[in-house]
Amino acid sequence: MNSVLHRNLRHSLPTASKGEGVYLKDSEGKLYIDASGGAGVSSLGHRSAVVNNAIWQQLNQLECAHTSFFTNSPCESLASRLVERAPTDFGQGRVIFINSGSEAMEVALKLARQFHVERGELTRTHFISRRQSYHGNTLGALAVSGNLRRRQIYQPMLMPTSQIAPCYAYRHQHSNESEVAYAQRCALDLETEINHLGAENVAAFIAEPVSGATLGCATAPQTYFAEIRRICDRYGVLMIADEVMCGMGRTGHWFAMSGEVDIEDSSSATNPVCPDIITLAKGLGAGYQPIAATMASEKVVSVIEKGSGQLANGHTYMSHAVACAAALAVVDEITQRDLLHEVNVMGRYIQALLAATFAEHPYVGDIRGRGLFWGIELVKDKVTKVPFAAELQIAPMIKQVAMQNGLICYPAQGCVDGIAGDHILLAPPFIINTEQINEVVDKLQISLKACLVNKNLM
Ligand code: PMP
Repeated sequence: MNSVLHRNLRHSLPTASKGEGVYLKDSEGKLYIDASGGAGVSSLGHRSAVVNNAIWQQLNQLECAHTSFFTNSPCESLASRLVERAPTDFGQGRVIFINSGSEAMEVALKLARQFHVERGELTRTHFISRRQSYHGNTLGALAVSGNLRRRQIYQPMLMPTSQIAPCYAYRHQHSNESEVAYAQRCALDLETEINHLGAENVAAFIAEPVSGATLGCATAPQTYFAEIRRICDRYGVLMIADEVMCGMGRTGHWFAMSGEVDIEDSSSATNPVCPDIITLAKGLGAGYQPIAATMASEKVVSVIEKGSGQLANGHTYMSHAVACAAALAVVDEITQRDLLHEVNVMGRYIQALLAATFAEHPYVGDIRGRGLFWGIELVKDKVTKVPFAAELQIAPMIKQVAMQNGLICYPAQGCVDGIAGDHILLAPPFIINTEQINEVVDKLQISLKACLVNKNLM
């Protein structure tokens, strides 16, 4: 029996005891191939000697020095690395290091508010995000999350926010509508909501460039984010990219937003859409240390610098030296081993294999994603796209059966608003090879079949 309060009180979990590359072992000696990196965390796989060594070396120098007294070398180097890799318009931005994705989102919300206050726009307090989104567990981050199931019991405690249409072409794009027209329609929803609220009341718009857990790796149609950027600029609204899950190389770019270019702008191939604030977590520490970041572009930093000169927010473990040293080693390892190239190559391989294995499957509605970030949406009816009833617990059961078969894949259940179906998310380490991808897809196929047979669906 587990004594730690886990999410599911009725299930005892196996004890993870050792990691090795893309594999995890439990205390009974059972081996699992980790095809989701937990929840998109383990970009380098488990037990990287390089990162472990960097942690050890840092511990031998300094574990932590409070940020009100000192900066430290790993946090400064890590911040420079991230700013260097950010989309071009980010300029001389700065980075705040905290501990989790939810905290990064809280910092982003407060930073956006502070930006407007410093400029004397005191009424800008309202945040707009998208339906079926997830931005974190803490109350501010949850308030901007459009996932109704996660919000439900806390609803009375959440600040008012608005949610607009997500980019969810599989269900929302009309059959006779072009990708660009669909992008325009989704983006227009933001403009309509800003006008409805009054631009003078809106602080920021928040979106994941590739929607992870709640929409199973749904990507935006071409031109969507470029149009969102134009709308935000038109109304003085900040643009926040939540790259907690899709950032740090997961999509084949250091920043997922770098994959979004403005095709109307001829310079856009070298000038991708640039958010004002970016949040990172999972892949930043790659599981070696709990670390997250909120990145403020030069536009945001310069306003605060000219104004109060102080970030109105702090946490005890900001810029923790060991956590930053681990993340620095992760960034350097990805760079030195050219793992973004691997993400693109292996990404194409997994994409083709998933299509060959599941495209004709009677219960697979959609396969989508980018890089090494793939979602499979399961539906009761492939033609009408009707999702499975939530009570059937299809995705959680696939997860359970997959674990029995030695595969870790991440389940996401359809939202209570009944619009999305069950999803399985794959986000394997960047070091995965073709043989291991074959193993993942084989085991997933076997697990999916076993689950459907159990439910009398096959
Ligand atoms: N934003 C996104 C897009 C996420 O996927 C998550 C975590 N699943 C969070 C924020 C919150 O991160 P954390 O769990 O580290 O607090």
